[in-house]
Amino acid sequence: MCPGARIITDEIELALSLENRYKILNENIFPMLGKNEQDFLREVQQFCLDLEPKIDWDKDVYVLFPELGKRGFIQRLNLWRDFGPSGMFYENLLSLGIGFMDPELELSRTASGILCGNPTFRHGGTAALNKVQDDLMSGVKVGCIGITEPNRGSDSVNMETTCEKLQDGSVRYNGTKVFTTNGAKADYFAAYAVYDKKNPRGTMVQAMFKRESGVHTERLHIQSVPRVHISKTIYKDATTPADMILGDNGQGYKNLFEGLVPERLMINGSALTICWNSLVHGIIYGNLRKQFGQNLLNMQGIGFPMGQLLAEVSACTALEVHVARQYDQHIMGKKPDPAIEKSVAALTAQAKYLITHQAHKTAYEVQQHMGGISVTDNTRMDQLAKVSDIQEVIGGHRNVMLLLIQNQIRKQADLLKK
Ligand SMILES: Cc1cc2nc3c(=O)[nH]c(=O)nc-3n(C[C@H](O)[C@H](O)[C@H](O)COP(=O)(O)OP(=O)(O)OC[C@H]3O[C@@H](n4cnc5c(N)ncnc54)[C@H](O)[C@@H]3O)c2cc1C
Repeated sequence: MCPGARIITDEIELALSLENRYKILNENIFPMLGKNEQDFLREVQQFCLDLEPKIDWDKDVYVLFPELGKRGFIQRLNLWRDFGPSGMFYENLLSLGIGFMDPELELSRTASGILCGNPTFRHGGTAALNKVQDDLMSGVKVGCIGITEPNRGSDSVNMETTCEKLQDGSVRYNGTKVFTTNGAKADYFAAYAVYDKKNPRGTMVQAMFKRESGVHTERLHIQSVPRVHISKTIYKDATTPADMILGDNGQGYKNLFEGLVPERLMINGSALTICWNSLVHGIIYGNLRKQFGQNLLNMQGIGFPMGQLLAEVSACTALEVHVARQYDQHIMGKKPDPAIEKSVAALTAQAKYLITHQAHKTAYEVQQHMGGISVTDNTRMDQLAKVSDIQEVIGGHRNVMLLLIQNQIRKQADLLKK
């Protein structure tokens, strides 16, 4: 973990162990969990405690995928084989376990397991897509999702990647996607295109591609996550057979929007993990590091703002717990009541706006409360702060969340007319 010079004391380094960080996390979070949820989080934590000493931090995260796959930990949103329990809330708990150990692995496994994998559970069913699902969930293959394009970021619906249907039912894509997390390493690409650029909602397609079907990638260098391969992804006459199509001719648009809610809830879980991991670093360090003859946390200038951060992170956690449970209860695997579906989507956008910003704020503020050590590689804080940089951007940028919330409150004028 620490190739540079070591300036941290043995006492504090030992105290910041993964085991101790989990202890403090559990003290704070267990009151919000039921018994089965606590047991599951402990199971993931034990898995991570066994895996952490084997991680080579100079290697990409992908070498760890098969280890996750053996325990059904690539994702827990959907039930795969007999790896229960599952659901949105268990997926968030999985994030808390994995993200504490390795936040880059957390970003990468969710892109493969949820962004690419979830459509195979929701819209799959063919033998070819079942094989993709098994490959992804077992961690032997890597997946990614292709929505964002060079000229279409927040405005992703009006995409420029086009497709055509061939006589044998296969689809052929032409276009370029960017920021494809895992793209440069991926075996499978869940990607979107439109038959008619003037009618994206009515003609959007969602289909799964193998790399060898005409997909080319160029790695983008993103300094905040050096062990994750993110790419520019080019579809040049890339062709995939009919049994790899997840949503054809407009159904792709519905799938895109249906998928955004679990994707955002999953991102919230990863962002909360950064919040808690940062806070716990600050709590341990602040209780042990002495200046002017006293522990940092005894000084009001440190103890009070740390207390405020704890209150904010607990409130964000309570919100996510509520929305994830609503998702599991009313939406997951059901034909949801449209009113509940709408309210869960609205709360999810609010939660994404708050929690992803809180992740960045918490990581940055804890760094300030810890001082210089937090920007070295002697602790995990620097890595956490860097990963927190991207949480507000992915899955819909923060202004897009505000746009959704703005629309929600504008429509409430209708209530005044009744
Ligand atoms: C590390 C990383 C990983 C990613 N992984 C993936 C992935 O796996 N797959 C994928 O498809 N994409 C991925 N993305 C892309 C991500 O979803 C986009 O970056 C995001 O949607 C924003 O698009 P953009 O970067 O083009 O910004 P733009 O859309 O150009 O936005 C620029 C700014 O304008 C604001 N803005 C835009 N529209 C409005 C509006 N109407 N009102 C007010 N403000 C507005 C935005 O909020 C932002 O502040 C990833 C991005 C990053 C950085």
